Amino acid sequence: MALVTLKSGREKSLLRRHPWVFSGAIKKVEGDPGPGETIDVLSNKGEFLCRAAFSPYSQISLRVWTFDPHEEVGTAFFHSRLKRAFDFRMPLLSRESEGACRLVNGESDGLPGLIVDKYAGFLVCQFLSAGAELWREEIVSQLRQTVVPLGIYERSDAEVRLKEGLEPRAGLLWGEPPPPLLVIQEKPCRFFVDIEHGQKTGFYLDQRENRTLISEYAEGGEVLNGFSYTGGFGIHALKAGARRVLNVDSSHAALDLAARNRELNQIGEDRAEALEGDVFQVLREFRDRRRNFDLIILDPPKFVDSWRQMERGSRGYKDINLLAFKLIRPGGILVTFSCSGLVSRDLFQMIVAGAALDAGREVQIVRALTQGPDHPTSLYFPEGTYLKGLVCRVY
Ligand code: SAH
Repeated sequence: MALVTLKSGREKSLLRRHPWVFSGAIKKVEGDPGPGETIDVLSNKGEFLCRAAFSPYSQISLRVWTFDPHEEVGTAFFHSRLKRAFDFRMPLLSRESEGACRLVNGESDGLPGLIVDKYAGFLVCQFLSAGAELWREEIVSQLRQTVVPLGIYERSDAEVRLKEGLEPRAGLLWGEPPPPLLVIQEKPCRFFVDIEHGQKTGFYLDQRENRTLISEYAEGGEVLNGFSYTGGFGIHALKAGARRVLNVDSSHAALDLAARNRELNQIGEDRAEALEGDVFQVLREFRDRRRNFDLIILDPPKFVDSWRQMERGSRGYKDINLLAFKLIRPGGILVTFSCSGLVSRDLFQMIVAGAALDAGREVQIVRALTQGPDHPTSLYFPEGTYLKGLVCRVY
């Protein structure tokens, strides 16, 4: 097996069980390992630290498979990691055959770079690191045997693959191809998911619980669902008795599917409206026209992807929240999210507070939200907690 020796003192994060080693920590590589190859990692003093996947093109040169020197990375390893990930999610999957949830959440499930989502009878995988890529056949074979799905589809077309020196890739991996629109059940709602063309793996499963939670605040109200994608929050709000929902998204395809989701849930056309456009601009126009809402949901894409984007991204969060605060009727609710991992919960709350102050509103946090329990975070990998949400009552 190839070997990596770290520079002196650079073993500290591994001793804290953090699963990444950056290229700058490496002193020498022996044995000419190829991309994704399993490699033993030693401290400068020659002590075993971990067994990891090597990624020669990435800033993250090593992703840890195991800290146990006796654990080989192979069939038995993937079997036990996958089984552990599935077992604790069984109650989440409920008995509904149309249920959807995340089955494998990368680093936090001890499988760096691997994402597996279950949509009814189908699995959708992302192999996002050189190590996950190398073991794809083994992983697919184990998924077939353990989950027994109808089909397994790949959506490794995320940009992060380029950082690993991997080409984007998508297509059927095994079994039946998923139907063009698959139906999933999420509490009282049903949704069409376009596995082939949808964003990410087709649906934002991390907001599963939050979509249910916000329905508490929906009854009788007029709702603005900002960054609606295929209407998820809006459908839950309508099912819970919202009077009307306006979905705003820049994606035409997403809004089309939102309309079909409304039909699927037998909600009348008169109760939902769609606006294709930029949320920033739409909110500004509503402010100028003094259009008000009882409940506003803001679930934007990641505004901060690197430290360089921090200032601009923070300003983005401030702007949309400031505008939203201005549109809410007294006693109404703003549900606001950030999925940027680099923006801490404290920082996000500070930005939202700044926005409320500038809007001249009195605001209480009534609930703090995060990603669902099928997206757990390893305690040793705090980066895994990326989704932050605040339910704010606005006076
Ligand atoms: N809340 C959704 C997920 C939102 S994902 C759900 O529960 O399913 C973020 C969405 O924002 C995507 O659908 C994307 O198309 C949209 N989007 C990105 N930038 C936008 C912008 N500036 N204005 C409007 N929509 C935008």
